[in-house]
Amino acid sequence: MSRLNSFIRRVTAQRDCLDHAVSLIGDAPGSVLELGLGNGRTFDHLRKSMPGRDIYVFDRHVKAHPDCIPDEEHMIVGDFRETVPAAAAKMAAPALLAHCDIGSGDKELSLALARELGASLPALLQPGAIIVSDQPFHVKSWVALPLPEAVAPGRYHLYRQA
Ligand code: SAM
Repeated sequence: MSRLNSFIRRVTAQRDCLDHAVSLIGDAPGSVLELGLGNGRTFDHLRKSMPGRDIYVFDRHVKAHPDCIPDEEHMIVGDFRETVPAAAAKMAAPALLAHCDIGSGDKELSLALARELGASLPALLQPGAIIVSDQPFHVKSWVALPLPEAVAPGRYHLYRQA
């Protein structure tokens, strides 16, 4: 497969999984977590899909498109391994949806980061919360959910917190 097609499949799967998660949470109350601001593409998609929701965005730096930078109250800057365990104090309400877009080019490092976040992220989520992720997680309190039909298994990941 060409790199262009591979990129298109990855971002289409990401968009489809995010849209599915947004429909699963419906109007239930709760905030949203975005781990990985990057250039702000998925943050922009989430805020346009859920106007009015508090979206807390994490990244080690702010290098997004200027139109896609969260306000100071919602932008949590630093290493995930330090900011996620401490984030409950900044959040107005536990999260109902978390999107983890944390992968780097290094597969082993990305999997190790997911393993570490699997210990701290559940405490920020309310029961029934949906987790959408570019990396697989193995968290006891999370149940894997079926992916949207068009998304190939393993391309993206969906979980529900018990
Ligand atoms: N969702 C973004 C978008 O749509 O533009 C892309 C996110 S990019 C794949 C991953 C982001 O995670 C990068 O911006 C990187 O700085 C951040 N990141 C990776 N590991 C991190 C860590 N340990 N702590 C904080 N940020 C990290």
